[in-house]
Amino acid sequence: MKPNFIKLRTEPPVLALLKLLRSRFLLPEETNDYYFSKLKGYEGECYLDSLLATLTSNSLILCDLLLEQNNTTFQIDTLLLSQKTIYLFEVKNFEGDYYIKNGDWFRKTTGKAITNPFHQLKRCETLLRSLLHARNIKMAIEPYLVFTNPLFTLYQTPLDLPAFFPGQLNYLLKKLNQAPSELNGSHQQLTQFLLSRHVIDSPYDRLPSYKYEELQKGVTCRMCQSFKVAISKYTTKCSACGHTEENKLCILQAAKDLKLLFPDMVLTVKAIERWCDYLYSRKAIWSVLETNYQLIHKGKNSYYL
Ligand SMILES: [Zn+2]
Repeated sequence: MKPNFIKLRTEPPVLALLKLLRSRFLLPEETNDYYFSKLKGYEGECYLDSLLATLTSNSLILCDLLLEQNNTTFQIDTLLLSQKTIYLFEVKNFEGDYYIKNGDWFRKTTGKAITNPFHQLKRCETLLRSLLHARNIKMAIEPYLVFTNPLFTLYQTPLDLPAFFPGQLNYLLKKLNQAPSELNGSHQQLTQFLLSRHVIDSPYDRLPSYKYEELQKGVTCRMCQSFKVAISKYTTKCSACGHTEENKLCILQAAKDLKLLFPDMVLTVKAIERWCDYLYSRKAIWSVLETNYQLIHKGKNSYYL
């Protein structure tokens, strides 16, 4: 008896892209802020996953679902299906002091309003209910805000706010462990239905515009994104954090990064050589591309796929 993660969480592509971009390009302040809030959110979600993984009762869990209903997309951070109930978790990794006034949410230090998490949760619940209703699926939905950061305080919280605060996460796990947990084929079907409705959005729409020429060329450390690397015959060592990696893996990663940042770019030995600022030999790059990609023969314009 244990939770079954039907859909695992992976690093959001927009986060991977921004991490790459910010090491090679000065991001606008607004985008930088977006990167850090996205990163923080992702860390909070992963933390909740790690807690849910310790559940002892049967449940099916779907992470990071993007669904569409009535031409509206909505994102579910975590959905947990037990025997009788669908638990909907909107995870917030807010840090610092916040308050609620007349139903709106504010940061205490700046007095600036934030997107109302409770409204986000209600919107999710309504759209999910409508999606399930259209399939004639009648299951109880219990939506909750889950706050994961121990440094978070919310003043003037209404008593009926459906939320679990950092000090109450054990209580949440206890509650889930005590929920009836006889699962059958219909539960599996429901998760498969939701999975089939998962849509994939393009991360590129949420990036600032950037050009190849504007990005710094060179080899960055996988761990700390520093350009301060020393390359020897077989390995690349970061002098900032000490991380060492095989050259083969660094070259492969460089090819992947380049393709992720510029999906239309044609992958050639020359392109990787230039992207890595000529730090690896042509022979080393050629060997990595030969092993990991398929060569498309077009004479002088051959490239790898
Ligand atoms: Zn490093």
